[in-house]
Amino acid sequence: MSHTAELIAVGTELLLGNIANTDAQMISEGLSQLGINVYYHTVVGDNPQRVRQAVDIARQRADIIITTGGLGPTCDDLTKVAIAQAFGKELFFHEPSAQRIRDRFAAMGHTLTENNYQQAMLPEGCTVLDNDWGTAPGVAFEAQGTHVIMLPGPPKECEMMFRHRAVPYLQSLSDGVIVSRTVKTFGIGESAAEALLRDYMNTLQNPTLAPYAKPTGTEFRITAHAQTEEEALALIAPVERQVVQILGDKVIGVDVSSLKEVCLNLLKEKGLTLGTAESCTGGLIAKLLTDLPGSSQVFRGGIVSYTDGVKTSVLGVPQELIDQYGAVSRQVAEAMARGAKKALGCDIALSSTGIAGPDSDDRNTPVGLVYLGLAFGDKCIVAEYRGGKVGRERIRRQSAQTALDLVRRHLTGLL
Ligand code: ATP
Repeated sequence: MSHTAELIAVGTELLLGNIANTDAQMISEGLSQLGINVYYHTVVGDNPQRVRQAVDIARQRADIIITTGGLGPTCDDLTKVAIAQAFGKELFFHEPSAQRIRDRFAAMGHTLTENNYQQAMLPEGCTVLDNDWGTAPGVAFEAQGTHVIMLPGPPKECEMMFRHRAVPYLQSLSDGVIVSRTVKTFGIGESAAEALLRDYMNTLQNPTLAPYAKPTGTEFRITAHAQTEEEALALIAPVERQVVQILGDKVIGVDVSSLKEVCLNLLKEKGLTLGTAESCTGGLIAKLLTDLPGSSQVFRGGIVSYTDGVKTSVLGVPQELIDQYGAVSRQVAEAMARGAKKALGCDIALSSTGIAGPDSDDRNTPVGLVYLGLAFGDKCIVAEYRGGKVGRERIRRQSAQTALDLVRRHLTGLL
């Protein structure tokens, strides 16, 4: 049977815009991996009547309600009281939870106050979700056909409680297993990718196929429900092949974490080293690669050649080339990449030169135009990225990713 969950975030600070509802994002993503539908998120302030109303509405349209926040000692256990009332349950004092709270306070050297014990007041007949990451225990119970899970608000605590306590509880609700595999792409927008897959997507029931737009590219998650993991993977395999075939060279991998990791692994596999000469990306390509542990095996170093002087003196870019074509040009991108390869003694060098904006240069080069060079052996390829006026941050981020995609394409024979 498929389940539908509704999330209720309790906290006036969420309504005031003081903080973003990141708990809901994390939980929704986790639920979709479990194949559980989510149709509504509700945010409600620290007000018992409105929490109760939100619960009464949610239980009419979902069979799983997950709440976040309002479990702390400072708000009179607002969420628990409202939910217990909604489902006609009494709260009782749970001594093992009280002991955990005492132990936690003692371990941290903090003084326990009487109101901390409110956190140990739990709805009768509930499953207690022990909180190893904070003081407020979570709660799960089933009443009148609805499963209710209450999690603490602080994001780190909420995440650990969701992954280690709520997920096993939710998995126990469905017979069999739910398995997902994610096809990651780069260089194709969500709508274009979805348009290619829409007809196919609509024919699928188990597994299901769902798109997710991420800042780094569109992902497609294939989720199968079966009795065993093996059976689920067997259901996923043909769909995965079909999706990969339809999306073609835009696919950077399946169940891979990021483009930078794909590049690093390809470089390692082939025993090649990489270096960078960056102008408009200001070291971002080097930063992305060195985010990953083990990058020193393949990344030799980077030069941030922001001014013409550094381009000529460190990378050996001829001044005449800059004068003739401008610093933002194919010719200069190529000379930078070749210069970096020589200066850094690497097998492959990447370069970037472009206009991140908001203003253009004295040649009126369009804002968002970036040339990316890739030097290898005695060859050099230059790609053009045109982001338009989408803001400095996005232009720099997207062009750095496009540079990494050049490496991926080169090392997989796509160029
Ligand atoms: P505590 O025991 O710390 O009081 P709690 O379960 O009662 O936890 P709240 O008091 O509602 O949770 O929130 C604690 C903090 O957690 C808030 O100040 C806020 O920073 C953060 N928080 C609460 N709800 C969310 C949410 N939905 N998304 C992101 N952060 C949240």
